[in-house]
Amino acid sequence: MEKKNFETLAIRTQDTRSDFKEHSVPIYLSSSFVFDNAEALRAAFNEETDDFIYSRYSNPNLDELVQKVCLLEGAEDGVAFSSGMAAVFSSLFPLLNQGDHVLSCASIFGASHTLFTKYFPKYGISTSYFQVGETKQIESFIRPNTKIIYLESPTNPTIELLDLEYISEIAKKHQILLVVDNCFATPYLQQPIQFGADIIIHSATKYLDGQGRVLGGLAVGRKDLIREIYLFARISGPSMSAFNAWVISKSIETLALRMDRHSQNALHVATNLQDHPAIVKVIYPGLESHPQFHLAKKQMKTGGGILAFSLKGGYEEAQKWMDGLKMICISPNLGDSRSIATHPASSTHCKLTPEDRQALGITDGLIRISVGLENENDILEDILQAFNSVK
Ligand code: PLP
Repeated sequence: MEKKNFETLAIRTQDTRSDFKEHSVPIYLSSSFVFDNAEALRAAFNEETDDFIYSRYSNPNLDELVQKVCLLEGAEDGVAFSSGMAAVFSSLFPLLNQGDHVLSCASIFGASHTLFTKYFPKYGISTSYFQVGETKQIESFIRPNTKIIYLESPTNPTIELLDLEYISEIAKKHQILLVVDNCFATPYLQQPIQFGADIIIHSATKYLDGQGRVLGGLAVGRKDLIREIYLFARISGPSMSAFNAWVISKSIETLALRMDRHSQNALHVATNLQDHPAIVKVIYPGLESHPQFHLAKKQMKTGGGILAFSLKGGYEEAQKWMDGLKMICISPNLGDSRSIATHPASSTHCKLTPEDRQALGITDGLIRISVGLENENDILEDILQAFNSVK
């Protein structure tokens, strides 16, 4: 498709149409594809043609989704996976060899942390961590065997940002790959490839689906690296289903609209919570009080849909506050049209030691809100009335 703007690409990236000439892309539920003759089968297996072979390799729905996300992220190629974690594992594993080192930001999704810390060492792959506040010294953490720098921005759940351009310059200087999990921002708010990232990971389960229905993951980026990832995925089999690809691709048609409204609602809530007497601080990249407000302006279109605040009280008060919610759901997910509240210290980050949580800024009173698409005043009102149960 000739160069079009984000919203148009998100809707018009559709080159699959059957003989029925349907307007909306159908779901291609077929585990394999047929060939006119033996020669066509041979040519397909030898990659002399682009024919679909088997849905573990690809399928028209996966192909459409991948093409779309590549256009939106500015990537050369991509692979779709059954979940975000399948994307993390199946992207990193084939790019690493025994003896390699991963330098990761400490503030990453818990399962990614466990993968690096518990499972990669079995294969001789080590990981060390830097804190967001140590970004300027990142060069000093690089080892001769560092192969990948891995990060998320904004981070979860403390909503800090990493300077993508700076880290990418350091990575390039040392010929290290930069892998960015972009699921909090989505390509609508931030395109890390513009700043020099090599591979972008998505949990499509979050904003790309946007309605809490299906799991999915994607890796997009440099063609040569994606080729390695694709060949591993083809063999190991963490493929996305055609149905999930269809759902996620349809959802992406409204991504821009949704992210604008998520951001608008989150800014409204964050602004109105700032002076609340029971809150120590509100953390939202769209607020001028956020320590990295200027970095947010540089690398993100808006502040996004996730905010956090720390209560003056601790663990018990945070739990009471959660129990006081009447509309907002208590759930560990995010990026949904429904607003969601999470208490990281007792849920997503409960496996960390109190010292590790402290180092990451995850206080006992920290609450994370994935601000949904309900009316902004209704969301705010539910958050405010929940304080009555803390008293
Ligand atoms: N990356 C981030 C930043 C996440 O928040 C999550 C899930 O919450 C994942 C990856 C894993 O995605 P999935 O649950 O689709 O496997």
